[in-house]
Amino acid sequence: MNQKELTFFKNLLLAKKEEILKSIKDTKEEGRDYTTNEVGDSVDIASNSYEREVLFELTDNERKQLSEIDAALQRIEDKTFGECADCSGKISQERLEAIPTATLCITCKSKRDTK
Ligand SMILES: [Zn+2]
Repeated sequence: MNQKELTFFKNLLLAKKEEILKSIKDTKEEGRDYTTNEVGDSVDIASNSYEREVLFELTDNERKQLSEIDAALQRIEDKTFGECADCSGKISQERLEAIPTATLCITCKSKRDTK
């Protein structure tokens, strides 16, 4: 992969990262509003703690996505971005554009999925 392509994917990953960080921030702010505004009865408290659980789950998922993005950015630095982790073959450009954090080519990915 040439420098131009690497830069393209780097920007793509950075934009994705920005998007996630922004949504985490929004979610947190919503959560705060929710807790401060709702000082209601037991029903509200119950739904409130459920809401909080959901927020925690989201954060975990987003943290995972962020670490995948960071790993992909590291591969760009190492110039190994776009190489399949299993067969060292090239991951197709289309696949990377759809999933820039992909570490496997479509062949290896489908092999793993069917296992
Ligand atoms: Zn492969």
